[in-house]
Amino acid sequence: MSHKPQFKFDNSFARSLESYFHYCDPEPAVAPKWLQFNHELAEELGLDPVTLDSDAGLAIFSGNETAEGSKPLAQAYAGHQFGGFSPQLGDGRALLLGEVIDTQQHRRDIQLKGSGRTPFSRGGDGKAAVGPVLREYLIGEAMYALGIPTTRALAAIATGKEVYRENILPGAILTRVAASHIRVGTFQYGAARGNEDEVRKLADYAIARHYPDTAEAENPYLAFFAAVADAQADLVAQWMSIGFIHGVMNTDNMTISGETIDFGPCAFMESYDPGTVFSSIDHGGRYSYANQPQILVWNLARLAEPLIPLVDPDQKRAVELLTETIECIQPLYESYWLTRMRSKIGLSKEDSLDSQLIQDLLKVMEGTDFTLAFRRLSQVLRGEREIVRNLFKKPNDFDEWEPRWRKRLEQEGVATEETAQAMDRVNPIYIPRNHKVEEALAAATHQADMTFFSKLLTIVTRPFEEVEGNEAYAEPAPATSIPYRTFCGT
Ligand code: AMP
Ligand code: MG
Repeated sequence: MSHKPQFKFDNSFARSLESYFHYCDPEPAVAPKWLQFNHELAEELGLDPVTLDSDAGLAIFSGNETAEGSKPLAQAYAGHQFGGFSPQLGDGRALLLGEVIDTQQHRRDIQLKGSGRTPFSRGGDGKAAVGPVLREYLIGEAMYALGIPTTRALAAIATGKEVYRENILPGAILTRVAASHIRVGTFQYGAARGNEDEVRKLADYAIARHYPDTAEAENPYLAFFAAVADAQADLVAQWMSIGFIHGVMNTDNMTISGETIDFGPCAFMESYDPGTVFSSIDHGGRYSYANQPQILVWNLARLAEPLIPLVDPDQKRAVELLTETIECIQPLYESYWLTRMRSKIGLSKEDSLDSQLIQDLLKVMEGTDFTLAFRRLSQVLRGEREIVRNLFKKPNDFDEWEPRWRKRLEQEGVATEETAQAMDRVNPIYIPRNHKVEEALAAATHQADMTFFSKLLTIVTRPFEEVEGNEAYAEPAPATSIPYRTFCGT
């Protein structure tokens, strides 16, 4: 006998913010099939994985049945896309099923993505294809395993429907889990409708849900802004430290919680080049690797705007206060970045020359695989410097840098092997390499073959432990003349 999956939904967003959504039902799937289910995450959410990994679960995650206590809704938001403002975007192909309280007592959203048209679909079909759904699943789970705040994937199912893009593709739905789906663009939506009370309601809700301590501050809305800035600065520093390029850092793709969201044209940089851009639509390189910290500040300035009337009744004073906070973001980001980068080269103490030491290593690294170069650095400490120096395009430059690093390591006063192990705990050996991701998605899309995906998922969700036999997953893509390009998941 199969039991009905129980979610115990508690839908605070729907109760609190009625002008920020429309109720909407998913479109039925024709012949849904499981692609992937995340048992471990189901457990973390306090759900029963066995009951869910069944036809009953499939019916829910395909949108064919509504779970008890769920009233699906599409959230409204606005956003700056590549710098241009759209006052109404919203969930054009996603539906919030509801919120659950997980085993750590954290409130989490459960959302379907690709479940059909909504009142916010504009010209879109509301659908998603197998490839982009699996990409989001894989990269989100890899980010989680790397210790980076991120939305996660609970399930991926094939709908049995066709999706019309440049080609005809098999359709799919991702079940996404997030601390919430409130974005910078959600605040912009409230403000664009000229309704200060609605912005205040949203801010109060976001404070209670994500930054409850700021409610006690002298100026809660200013403290809230600073808390979001802090979370996002830390997040982008983490992206930079592992070579992650988000690809579409539009304000609707930056969460208030500080989780990474919307893995569309994102990718991991292989050969180190600060100007790297993967997205086929990012012609100006707005969202290149090296621009991400500047865009962080730009996006937060867009969040500051709707908060002006809440921060102080005197507009001039409010702008002054928010500007002071905005001016702190870059130094804040830099301190997060420096801490992360120090640990990548085995440093835990602080020296005023560290930033220069790291910048100089990055210069030496140009044209070298970013992930491998950092990972292999620990081998220098284990007496294999010859192999490591030969990874670099200009080994002589590495020879110049290395003694400076060694000298700095002496200041730490830590045993060499201990340092090497600490480095291996922060420098992954396995990241989702673009050619491996493409291989897995192509097999799933064109042959309905999930074996490549499963294997890759297993490897990238244990990114720090080197496993014999998995060498091919640690290597950069074979050289080709065509630069890697990613496309939006639309
Ligand atoms: P994204 O680029 O995925 O962050 O999406 C930007 C906006 O376009 C959001 O409002 C999405 O909901 C909407 N959108 C993207 N793809 C589709 C689609 N296939 N159908 C309807 N809306 C979409
Ligand atoms: Mg988006």
